[in-house]
Formats: sequence, structure tokens, C-alpha cells
Amino acid sequence: MTTRSPLGGPRLLLRRLREVMSEPVNAQERLDRIVVQVASNMVAEVCSVYVQRSDGLLELFATEGLSRAAVHMTTMKVGEGLVGLIAKTAEPLALPDAQDHPAFSYRPETGEEIYQSFLGVPILRGGNTLGVLVVQNQTKRVYNEEEIEVLETISMLLAEMIASGELQAIAKPGTNVGHRGPMALKGLPITDGVGLGYAVLHEPRVIVKKIVAENIELEEKRLDEALSAMRDSIDSMIDDQTTRGEHLEVLEAYRMFANDRGWLRRLREAIKTGITAEAAVEHVQSDARARMLRSTDPYLRERLHDLDELANRLLHQLTGQELVASPDNLPDNAILVARTMGATALLDYERSKLRGLILEEAGPTSHVAIVARALGIPTAGEVENISDLVEQGDAIIVDGTTGEVQIRPQANIEEAYREKARLRARRQEQYQQLRNVPAVTKDGVAIGLHMNAGLLVDLPHMAETGAQSIGLFRTELQFMMAAEFPRLERQYALYKTVMDAAPGKAVTFRTLDIGGDKILPYMATYEEENPALGWRAIRLGLDRPALLRVQVRAMLRAAGGRDLRIMFPMIANVAEFEAAKDLTNRELKHLSRHGYDLPNDLKLGVMLEVPSLLWQLDEILEQADFLSIGSNDLMQYLFAADRDNRRVSNRYDPLSAPGLRALKHIVDRSRIAGKPVTLCGELGGKPLDAMALIAIGYRGLSMAPANIGPVKAMILKLDAGNVSAFVDDLIENNASDPSLRAQLQTYAEAKGVPL
Ligand code: PEP
Ligand code: MG
Repeated sequence: MTTRSPLGGPRLLLRRLREVMSEPVNAQERLDRIVVQVASNMVAEVCSVYVQRSDGLLELFATEGLSRAAVHMTTMKVGEGLVGLIAKTAEPLALPDAQDHPAFSYRPETGEEIYQSFLGVPILRGGNTLGVLVVQNQTKRVYNEEEIEVLETISMLLAEMIASGELQAIAKPGTNVGHRGPMALKGLPITDGVGLGYAVLHEPRVIVKKIVAENIELEEKRLDEALSAMRDSIDSMIDDQTTRGEHLEVLEAYRMFANDRGWLRRLREAIKTGITAEAAVEHVQSDARARMLRSTDPYLRERLHDLDELANRLLHQLTGQELVASPDNLPDNAILVARTMGATALLDYERSKLRGLILEEAGPTSHVAIVARALGIPTAGEVENISDLVEQGDAIIVDGTTGEVQIRPQANIEEAYREKARLRARRQEQYQQLRNVPAVTKDGVAIGLHMNAGLLVDLPHMAETGAQSIGLFRTELQFMMAAEFPRLERQYALYKTVMDAAPGKAVTFRTLDIGGDKILPYMATYEEENPALGWRAIRLGLDRPALLRVQVRAMLRAAGGRDLRIMFPMIANVAEFEAAKDLTNRELKHLSRHGYDLPNDLKLGVMLEVPSLLWQLDEILEQADFLSIGSNDLMQYLFAADRDNRRVSNRYDPLSAPGLRALKHIVDRSRIAGKPVTLCGELGGKPLDAMALIAIGYRGLSMAPANIGPVKAMILKLDAGNVSAFVDDLIENNASDPSLRAQLQTYAEAKGVPL
């Protein structure tokens, strides 16, 4: 066994490689020179570069020591052989006796059986494996830590060559390398529509171009300065009086990481191998990413994001490159790609240039999703790893209706999506023409179509869609987007603007529905085991009456001289509604005493979202002026299935006997009580579901503006009497069927009802 110190050391090797990188030769020649240099410097008989193609195979791109004829001929699957194992685990592998390893696979064409020891490292970028770099020796040899480090550093150079597209020039025709080929991903649908354009990364990755250091002491100094500047900036953000709640916690986590000894040690060690400070940060981060990406522990993955953010800040300090895309310099046809994004950040971009939005983490009910929907930007969410798989400027397509994303699509795929977009545009035009057509079924039953809103950007949709009223105004969005509690005057200003924008049309304001998944960054949070069943909505409002009182006062004042409708979310018993009514009446008296203009007509309603109300319907209907069903929550509580948990959210179907019987019971009792009832959850906005709701007796539905056209088109072709008889029979005689969706679909097709 021999353990030799590499000839000339890593610094000499890096210097040589720097020369090779700047030589005016083609990519194959450059790779060939690199493997020769590495083999000779590391006293290895073999050095080989395997590059991962977009079809998943690892192809031998260059070798010193193995048979030259195998270059571009030998391929391996991920997971196959030692090279495939490294690609799969994204971890280095050092073996004195490679042939003893269970994963060893013999490739006669390479002539590698004569080599005994093996050292391979993954070629990583942003945690993704782009290839594998290997050295081999004939004798039994134990590779030391320093050699592994050196090889990892060289793999960074190769990662840049692959990512820059340089190696694409020598790839076999029809193959792609370095994630540069077409790729199809699937996430969750968030906002309908198809967007074609070019990727703009919301948080552009800092591109580290200079990898080899000229002066190591200087790089150490640069790292120290950048670290201290970054720590100062985190400290000053923490000290800032306006930083509170979750944001503060995140910053404190950054501060902890910024002082983490292990992290700092790894950075310093990386610089000692002869690379620049920024290359060291990227190297250490890439390793951490690869390790944590494979972890299924959500806590670890969350920490990975903190670390990523920190590494990004540090790279930003070191290179002076921008941390966040500049919303002002957006190209036309931009498809915004972000890991996560705040709702306000999205509003900073110029809407007319945005063709789509792709998010790695945000789900359909996140704040940014709500804003994307209001802005009508085709959006897909929970698209895994998207921000690492695309490069700035890549051609990209997002289908917000299916959640599909196509990166660097081939011409035929692109054409198919263009056609889909054209068809959709044509359909939208048809819906536009229906704007002033009353929503009346073929047998003359009028259905009220209202819209859900919550932001100022929603308001123009009122006229565009011909919505009858705003059936649900989610007031919490203003609170969620503000940096601090909006005071009375700001709330008043918003509510007045909303009412002014809807002259002659009713607006139903819902009081604050926070808690659960809707968190205010500036409000103290309480750990709750089950936030959906916790301190939220009206529960919070009644326990913090000052908050609710100010909001109700703002609404009453904004509606001076006009009609006003207010509803209270998450009411679970009659007493809660009575308390909310009392509070409102006290506010009315207060305003009247102070000489304010009062609303002409005030209607107070109950949002029916908690199943307990199903057994006190008559009593609540006696108290309420109207009911509005929050089917998103009602169904989540009815089936005990978290609406935001992908594993269970689609497990039960509201279009089933229990779901529809509960909804029918509500509408039947409301009719007897002579009180209006509408439904304002997502259910009402899908044509098939809306058809079922009309069948069981609903005559008013409130939905996202984009859904009004499709639902109206369905209504115009529907026979309400006929569908009622059909659905009545369905829920009477098919109670054991977990979903009646298929039968309803067949019915609609047979009757020519468009869905
Ligand atoms: C609902 O629960 O259906 C509803 C309309 O309220 P939100 O989606 O805002 O909880
Ligand atoms: Mg709700």
C-alpha cells in the first residue's frame, strides 16, 4: 500500500488547470488536457470524466488511462457500478480495493480491470449531479482527505464547463448534458392558463466564474471581510424595531448559522486547497445541499433553505452580484421562477410582462398564490427543485391548469402548448361575450354569480366578468401583506375604495380570518398542535375585541349612506354570532353618537364552515340575515382532511353523498327559513361542482373571477329541473360510492353541458 503526497501539491495543479481553462482549444481538447493534468499531478494512472445526460445516462467524456475508444461510447445508468453509485448518492467514494465493492461493475471496453484503487467525486452544481470525476490506481492505495478535496475542487471547474454549455458542443447528436436538455416537471395547479416565455429567476444564483485563487491569504481575508459584513447586516436587521414574529426567527436562524463553527471551518479548509472565497462558499454549500436534499426530514430541509439563503448572502457580498431580480428590468415574456416568494414581492413586478409564475414551495392557498390568482398569472406551485434546474433565460412553459412545467421544450411540445394557449384565449373571448348575458338555465332558473376578492387588483374583474356582486371580500389579505397592523384609517380607505369600485353592487366583507394557515408576520404566534382547529378567525376576533371592533368600525364608516353586508368566519355556535352582532351594534351606536353617516341597510351574515352549525341551522338562521358557505373549510372539517395537505386533501370528494347531503340540508333549511344562502368556497367555481350545487338547490355562488365565464357557460346549457332529479336520485341511491364525480361527468356529457 502506498500513500503518496500529490506531486507539486494541489495549488500547482490548480494553477496548471487555470492555464488549461484559458487556452483557445475546443471542449474535447480542454477536457483531455484536464484529465492528463489531474492524473499526473495526483500520481494516478487513470483520470476519467463522466457526464450525466438528460436521458439520465452517465457517459464517459474523457479519460487518461482507460481505453480512448471507450470515450463517448461507455455509458452507465445512475445507480449502476461505482460511478453510478456516486451519481446517485452525490457523495465521494474512496476505495483501496474497488473490485471488492458490491457495486463494482466490469466494463471490458474500458480495460479497467487492472486498476485496483478508485476515488470518485460527484460533479455538483446547486446540489444537482452533473457528472462524476474519477481517478484510479493500479496499486492498492488509500486516498487521503486532501486528495478528495482536490478532486472536489476540480469537479467545480468541470461543473462550470458543463453548466456553461461548453460540453454540449461535443455531446453526441440528440443527447443533452448538464440539465440543458428538455425536461418535464409536474407540480400543483394554482392559476389557470398557459404561459410561454423565458425564465427569470426571482433570486438569481450568483455565478461563480473565478474558481482558482491567485493568492490564498488574500482569499482568506476576503472571506473574513464578507463574513463580518454579512453578520453586521443580519444584526442590524434583527435590531430593527419593525422586525418581528417569524421574520425575526428566520434572521436569528441565519445568525446562528453565520457563527456555526463547522461551516466556517469547512469554508476555510476549502480556500486552503487553492480556490477563491466565492468558490469555497459554493463548494461547501453544494455539498451541504446534496446531503440535505436526500434527507426526508422536513426540519433538515427547512434548515437547508436557511443555509442556502445565508450562502447566497455571502456570495452576494463577495461578488457584488444582485440578490434579487430587479423587477424594473423584466424582459418581455417573463416566466418568474422562485423557490418561495412573498405576495408583495410579486406585486413589484410589471404585470404586463409576466407570462407565468413557477414556485418551488408555495401551495394553492399560500399568499403569493392568492395574489397570482388575482393577477391572473398562470401559476404552478410545489414544482420540486425548479429553481436549480433552470438557468436565467431558458425557454420555459408553465401550464397553471395542470401544474405542468416544460423546461427548454422541444419544438413539437412548444407547438402543442401554443395551441393550448390559443384555444384558451379563444374560449376566454367567448366568456367575455357572455359578460352581459344573464346566468339563467335552459328552464329559466336564474343563478347569481358573484366574485371573490381581497385585493385592489381584483376590482377591475368586477366589470370584466359581469359579476353580480362581491360575494366574499377576504379582508385578511390587506393584513397579511402589511408590515404592521393596518390602522383604522388604512382599513377604512381600502373598504371605501372597494365599495366605490362597485357602484350599485353589493359587497360582502368578511371580518378578519387569520390564524390557522394565515399568519400575520407582525403578530405573536402561538404554538398550536392543530392550527386549523385552533385559535383563528372569529375565535380570535372575539378574544381580541379591540381588533374586531376597529375593523367593523372601518367597514361601517366606509359604507356611510350605502348598503353594507358583513359576515363572520368560522362561527361554531349561535352565541358566537350573537356576540359578533352585539359588537357591531355597539359600533353602530358609537358612530351614530359621533355624527357619522351610517349604512342605509346593514345585513349581518354567518359563514358556515364548521359542521357543528349543521345541527343548529334553524337557530342560526333565525339570527342571521344570510348564510355563506365556506366549502373549503366545511369540507376539510367534515371529512377531517387538511385542505393544505397533499396526501389527504383529495382523498375525499365533496361530490359524494355525505358532502352533497350536508350541503343540501343547509340550502333546504335556509329556504324554509326564508334566508338567502350562497356558497363561496372553491367548489362553486368549478363547472361540474357548480352543476351539482345548482342541482341540490343553490342559487347563488361566489367564486374567483376567472371561473365566472366557465360556470356561466355551463349554466346556459343546463336544465335545472332535470339535473335536480338526477342528483336527488344519485345521492339517495349511491351513498356508499366515495365519489359521484364520474356519474355527474357522464350526465353532463350526455346532456351537452360544457365543463
Ligand atoms: C372557505 O373556507 O371556503 C372560504 C371561502 O374561506 P377561506 O378559503 O378564505 O378559508
Ligand atoms: Mg374558510
